[in-house]
Amino acid sequence: MAKLDMDGPHKLDEKIILKEIIQPMPGSFALGHLGSDRSFEVLYVGYAEKTVQETLLHCLKKRVGQGGLMDKLTGKNQINAFKYSYANSLEACFQKTCKNFHDFGGAKKLNNKDHPKPPKGSDWVCNKCTEELTANFKVKAG
Ligand SMILES: [Zn+2]
Repeated sequence: MAKLDMDGPHKLDEKIILKEIIQPMPGSFALGHLGSDRSFEVLYVGYAEKTVQETLLHCLKKRVGQGGLMDKLTGKNQINAFKYSYANSLEACFQKTCKNFHDFGGAKKLNNKDHPKPPKGSDWVCNKCTEELTANFKVKAG
């Protein structure tokens, strides 16, 4: 089973974000659907370059990661909750978000349209993608 390794889930609500996320730190987060049985379905993963609080408030306002009209019509679960974790470095946030992205089915399953991108000005590459490339290379070369 894929694991997020994050705190929560909490309801995606301005008051709760303000109350819950008090450390002014970067971090990773997941948006998803909290079922009545407390199960959490991951629908979107991302990371905060500045603070988790600021980024989640932005997500809430801009409806980041929410499915489109088709999802609503087909009865796909909507985002109503979040999980988060702080990180010591921005690179750690990025790598964790990449790992979550792959573990939870990538762009096929998640509402993320693209693979998470590194922050502007950095040339970090996702560890998982690098592993896959290396594995493919070995198969071809061997
Ligand atoms: Zn990757």
